[in-house]
Amino acid sequence: MEARCPEDLLSLALAYVDNAYAPYSGYKVVAVLRDEYGRAYVGVNVENSSYGLTVCAERVALFNAITGGSRRFKELLVYSKGPNPPVPCGACLQSLSEFDDGSLRIYVAKANGVCDSLTLSSLLPRPFRL
Ligand SMILES: [Zn+2]
Repeated sequence: MEARCPEDLLSLALAYVDNAYAPYSGYKVVAVLRDEYGRAYVGVNVENSSYGLTVCAERVALFNAITGGSRRFKELLVYSKGPNPPVPCGACLQSLSEFDDGSLRIYVAKANGVCDSLTLSSLLPRPFRL
């Protein structure tokens, strides 16, 4: 479903996207994660010449949020300057699912402030659980 992107999250994304470190793919991604108290945490993708060590923006944002003491999240916005809207990968969805109570809304930014509005549970309906 399409919706207006949350303006404050999109503003943060636009302010930080150029900080992404993506010299190999050129695909700069930024993620902004809002916790239950309204605090927003930003992450960008960080690539590595040993490709498998690359970390996605979503997990960087999540790890920043966990470091900041947050545990419950309401919204995640993902943005890229590239032509394809950056739907979170499976690894990031699994990492986010650890802290999801079924209410996390994921906004994938497209053009002109329009987002695809998704839920984590729709993208990863059966996450791994111990
Ligand atoms: Zn990912």
